[in-house]
Amino acid sequence: MSYRPAVDVSDRLTARVEGSRDALVGALSEAIAIPSVVPTFPGERREDHLGREGDVARLLARVLEGCGCEIDVFGLEPGRENCVAVLRGRGGGRSLILNGHVDVVPPQPDSDWTGGDPWSGRVDDGQVWGRGACDMKGGLLAEAFALRAVAESGIRLRGDLIFQAVVGEEMMEHELGTTACLERGYRADAAVVAEPSPHGAPLAICPTTPGVMWFTVTAMGKGAHSGMRAETIRRGGAGSAVGVNAADLAWLLQGELLALERDWSKRKHHPLFRPGSFTVHTGVVYAAPAAGPMPFGLAEKAVLECILWHAPDDDPDTVRHEVEARLRAVGERPEWRGREGPRIEWRHHWPAAKEAVDSEIVAALRAAHAAAHGDQPTVEGFAAVADSTYLQRGGVPAVTYGPGDIALAHAADERIAIDEVVAAARTYALLAAGWCGT
Ligand SMILES: [Zn+2]
Repeated sequence: MSYRPAVDVSDRLTARVEGSRDALVGALSEAIAIPSVVPTFPGERREDHLGREGDVARLLARVLEGCGCEIDVFGLEPGRENCVAVLRGRGGGRSLILNGHVDVVPPQPDSDWTGGDPWSGRVDDGQVWGRGACDMKGGLLAEAFALRAVAESGIRLRGDLIFQAVVGEEMMEHELGTTACLERGYRADAAVVAEPSPHGAPLAICPTTPGVMWFTVTAMGKGAHSGMRAETIRRGGAGSAVGVNAADLAWLLQGELLALERDWSKRKHHPLFRPGSFTVHTGVVYAAPAAGPMPFGLAEKAVLECILWHAPDDDPDTVRHEVEARLRAVGERPEWRGREGPRIEWRHHWPAAKEAVDSEIVAALRAAHAAAHGDQPTVEGFAAVADSTYLQRGGVPAVTYGPGDIALAHAADERIAIDEVVAAARTYALLAAGWCGT
């Protein structure tokens, strides 16, 4: 099967996309200026952010208005609306979803941003700046303008082309976003999620993601005056009868998690991932005396909030058992004498996405990229999780492919190169023609 659109179709679509560059940049700036922080982000007040996701959805609906597609702005919760636009095909072709999320993570602190404004959407040095530029309003707008280019080019696709701008991705709320779209009937024969590309591999095709697990480890100590430290740790002292510093226990647990991570770097391999890609990351460590965060007492409680990235083919239960066995063994060391061992709470699992590298959508995307750019794309694993997992689980073969560098996602001075956004839009338009048929 040929996925390459005829040369005149390619030329027309490419010219349309290039002709819309200024409008695309304008709409991207506008989208970034809407502070669509996911309202359920820990530590954020829901009411401060509720409604902004819906504002981005409505902006995208306006971008696509008048180009002949059916637009559906809907949400399962007020203020958290998705935008779906369907460009109906004339029949006899395969359908395609172009998917992306409208929500972003908080930008704090503002002082880390050049110019002090994470929502500026300013255009400077060939780039658009602001929270969400690469994760992933740049990709979303590239998809929207690809759909516009197809619609306005006069080329009638055979299969349906479906744009999905979804909420809640950053907090793992796929049931409000991507899964809600699938359940509303917006399904297709394949999907592309416009997440940014791996660091150092611009516009790479990512058929696979790792799986991610969020877990919490709690260690209970025993409070006492910090002057009792010597008594609690010296040989022959009163030991845990007087006190146990939970901060020390946290240190031991973290040491074991780092050892596990080193072990994984030697043991876990995957052909699409660079060595050492599967990691155990402790992002929050908290330990304090019951009286509060001052060090004149032994810490009564320590909490580690951790994320682990497991290999796509790992069995999730095996991974959980391995972590639990390692941490339980720490709880049997002398420092824990007479104490309850560490408690492990599994908070969330986002399963891996696993599209075959020789699947039809990967072949079609390779052909579209090559036709748009004249070179062969890199094919590698994605460095984070994406809604491609839930598209696949909903029965839609899915990959990620998008503009921007994931190293800038969730960071200060997030930005995206305009040339790369337009380049991605060209690929999406040619993919639509090649996959859906003309
Ligand atoms: Zn993202």
